[in-house]
Amino acid sequence: MTQPSVLLVEDEPAQRAVLSYNLESEGFRVIQAENGEEALLLVDEDTPDIVVLDWMLPNVSGIEVCRQLKMRKDTRALPIIMLSARSEEVDKIRGLETGADDYVTKPYSVLELMARVRTQLRRARPGSVATQLDFNDITLDTENHRVSRADKEIKLGPTEFRLLTTFLEKPGRVYSREQLLDRVWGRDIYVDTRTVDVHIGRLRKALCQHGGEDPVRTVRGAGYALG
Ligand code: CA
Repeated sequence: MTQPSVLLVEDEPAQRAVLSYNLESEGFRVIQAENGEEALLLVDEDTPDIVVLDWMLPNVSGIEVCRQLKMRKDTRALPIIMLSARSEEVDKIRGLETGADDYVTKPYSVLELMARVRTQLRRARPGSVATQLDFNDITLDTENHRVSRADKEIKLGPTEFRLLTTFLEKPGRVYSREQLLDRVWGRDIYVDTRTVDVHIGRLRKALCQHGGEDPVRTVRGAGYALG
């Protein structure tokens, strides 16, 4: 399995850095472009497996880039996920039928975007992304949203599911409450850090419903980790 590559087109350096960091930690090779012209040039030089494309770009807009890529025979099959600032814009681009494969509306959680990227990539390149995450007797399937522990099914709410996905991607890594907020809830949404504690409590309860030790570790003064 070769490392999948993603072309990330975003003009805001801070957003580009966050996304790039997260895509890299998901195992992607990231090719960065800060505008549409650069994106179109880079596609020829180094064809990616997937494109994450911001809608609001200077000069050549994301829509235009999308349209051009979808018109060309050699890039037509390339999955494109568009990032859009407001839901009205999503409707607008839907109406324009640019041919984007998926849309994510800002503010989005990084985890949500990563899940969409994996989904698109799975469609385009079956077998290129793992769908199952494991830690000891815990198994999580990112595709059909199933969780089990010691072969017994565990029912989780959507937030607890995203929390567990985050932990399972890097078992042992300590996440601060702020980092969990960023990944699970999205950085632009105001949620009190105590909310994290509430959902961690629910996750623990759910994971221990059929017995077994609590796999979530509280790291005093730092946050939470799995194992
Ligand atoms: Ca932008």
